[in-house]
Amino acid sequence: MKRVQSVRFIKSAVSPDQYPQHSLPEIAFIGRSNVGKSSLLNALVRKKNLARISNTPGRTQLINFFAVGETCYFVDLPGYGFAKVPESIKKQWQPMIESYLYRNEHLACVVLLLDARHTPTRHDMSMREWLQAYHIPAIFVATKIDKIPKTKRRKHLKTIRETLGVQSTEPLLPFSALTGEGIQTVWKTIYNTTAAT
Ligand code: GDP
Repeated sequence: MKRVQSVRFIKSAVSPDQYPQHSLPEIAFIGRSNVGKSSLLNALVRKKNLARISNTPGRTQLINFFAVGETCYFVDLPGYGFAKVPESIKKQWQPMIESYLYRNEHLACVVLLLDARHTPTRHDMSMREWLQAYHIPAIFVATKIDKIPKTKRRKHLKTIRETLGVQSTEPLLPFSALTGEGIQTVWKTIYNTTAAT
């Protein structure tokens, strides 16, 4: 998988019958609202506004599919834990995400984003538990690492690992969309995880 390829928005979907038909591996991205998911997606594909598509009104609560060259699909799953989202939408979220994760014939891995500054929330923990329960390979990314002084990074990463029960064999990758730190490692880990499935 080359690092930068042509990326195309394919479609938004709610239910499995609306997912695009293809035979490529899917890499899904999920995390709390505001965790830096759009910034990570834009940085990975080196497009300023790719993920803006996912943030346009009407699409923020949908599953958005992007084709990355001819090699894989990026799947932008709606963020969770956003206080301003109405209760009715919150109720739709869980079945929508669960049916995506269940229907995992294409799903190669899930990139779970965590804000490097904060202890993971109960929503982050639930997501971690789902991925384990469904045996989905996970890559953990600690976002906004530029906001943590270098001397404190190890401690923050340790807290995330311990709270989520991330094993030492599982990747927890520091990342900054601001400085570009970690971007190569995130790509390499996605590549290795996808190749292994
Ligand atoms: P999303 O809601 O998860 O898609 O989050 P966004 O990518 O829209 O980012 C939310 C906020 O965090 C924005 O104000 C971004 O500028 C900021 N942000 C995202 N990534 C980084 C980062 O790596 N470093 C810093 N300092 N800020 C970031």
